[in-house]
Amino acid sequence: MQHGDLAIIDMLKFAATAHPRREIVSRNVDETLWRYDYAVCFARCAKAAHAFAQLGIAPGDRLTSLAWNNHRHFELFFAVPGIGAVLHTANPRLPDGQLAYTINEAGSRILLADLNMIPIIERVKPLLNTVERIILLTPPDRAGQWESYEALIADQPDVYPWPRIEENKAAFLCFTSGTTGDPKGVLYSHRSVVLHAFAAGLTGALGFSAFDVVLPCQSLYHATAWGLPFCGAINGTKFVLPCDRMDGASLQELIESEGVTFTGGVPTIWTTYLDHLQRTGGSVHRLRRVIIGGSAVPRDMAIAFDKLGVEVQQIWGMTETSPLGVVSAPTPDLDELGVEGAKDQIWTRQGRMLFGIEIEIFGEDGQPLPHDGEVSGTLKVRGPWVVERYYKHAEDACDADGWFDTGDIATIDRFGFMRITDRKKDVIKSGGEWISSIDLENIAAGFPGVKVAAVAGVYHPKWEERPIMLIEAHDGADISVDAMRDWLSSRIAKWWMPDRIICAPVPLTATGKIDKKAIRTAYAGLLKD
Ligand code: ADP
Repeated sequence: MQHGDLAIIDMLKFAATAHPRREIVSRNVDETLWRYDYAVCFARCAKAAHAFAQLGIAPGDRLTSLAWNNHRHFELFFAVPGIGAVLHTANPRLPDGQLAYTINEAGSRILLADLNMIPIIERVKPLLNTVERIILLTPPDRAGQWESYEALIADQPDVYPWPRIEENKAAFLCFTSGTTGDPKGVLYSHRSVVLHAFAAGLTGALGFSAFDVVLPCQSLYHATAWGLPFCGAINGTKFVLPCDRMDGASLQELIESEGVTFTGGVPTIWTTYLDHLQRTGGSVHRLRRVIIGGSAVPRDMAIAFDKLGVEVQQIWGMTETSPLGVVSAPTPDLDELGVEGAKDQIWTRQGRMLFGIEIEIFGEDGQPLPHDGEVSGTLKVRGPWVVERYYKHAEDACDADGWFDTGDIATIDRFGFMRITDRKKDVIKSGGEWISSIDLENIAAGFPGVKVAAVAGVYHPKWEERPIMLIEAHDGADISVDAMRDWLSSRIAKWWMPDRIICAPVPLTATGKIDKKAIRTAYAGLLKD
């Protein structure tokens, strides 16, 4: 058989050849909606490649993007790896010090940023020690004193002799969000990104077709937006990019005007979207599927989508797994649970394994645990798109058998579905027994008016740790703590009842997850006496 190195640019080349007229629609900072197709996108990537080559960018060099979900950022996803360089997708929501740390660690030569990143750039610029140029992803008339991407690529040829790149070479550098210390870098290779795109496209996973219209509401800078740009390109889907406008009204507008059939993002985005639909009486239009991951999907969120005729698929993954690890999708075995039982299974589990990635749970003795849906243990994964070693680390991140410890605690049931009960560092140990913060949050999130519920364990003199709960309401909602207590008491074991329920804003991390560390610190002494 022939051997050809798997290359990221080939995915876009395929889309430009097989689906040349399929559209890419993009919102941009302070510009009107941008609309073009895969053929033009591929030509503009060639122009960008020429421009980078002229700037002296060589294979292996790192470039950092500081950008939202828009078409110019999308072009960098192909043009930069296409010339053998590495795209570090920086997270603008990181604190300045950590953001600068990631760019310095990357050793980036060029920083490519959206227009509304200027305040961040001005703050972190003095901390950067490798960046030679800063280019704004904007037309020249808006760039002011800065270099403009559009000006840079304008007069370049629209065909590029894409070099052959050894498939194990790095293409992306993604950092974990650093909730437990400095962010850690993970290098995605051409091979891992292409294999991940194939797997994500399987019918038992995201199962795209050329008729799909995909709206990624997961940031391009967070684990490459779950690989959707690549999975979309190899299936010829229409692609709709929302920029940084992920509020309910803005999403609704794009979903309706562009005929979006498929979208994906973290639960907090969908809480806002569903709330918007409820308040305005808006419809989901052609939307048929939504994938939700990054945090556990509240069951009531899945029910709300189901009532609107939208199928919910939960996914689980992490930066270290590129990020898809498991996806929840029906199998014939679920027939025995009946229609409602099968739906419940899909909504309340993180998913089943995908071809290409193995999952297993292990006990404290390091032995695999039974798949009975009851016993929980450390979740480990392995496969060709799982990290082997963090960027610049001396030691492997996986054990001798290739297993990577995810830091999650999970069960696996007889149908092969995995369910996360907690992150190891968030588990609440009360009097020697475990309380799942995720289960508690899930139940509380179903209470009318709740935008987000967060549960964390804090020190208790008698029980070692006890749960406390923070509830944040939707605008204008009034939540009674007593009513929440009644809601919980009919749904949980008595000893799981949080010792305190507090109405307060829930702190979120740079990747939009509940910041449990901040909650534990803020309320550390609450139950002391
Ligand atoms: P970081 O590890 O930097 O916080 P990641 O985005 O890589 O950022 O987070 C990965 C973690 O997110 C997983 O280990 C898991 O704890 C959590 N997670 C991801 N998807 C889900 C899900 N569907 N349900 C529950 N937790 C999830």
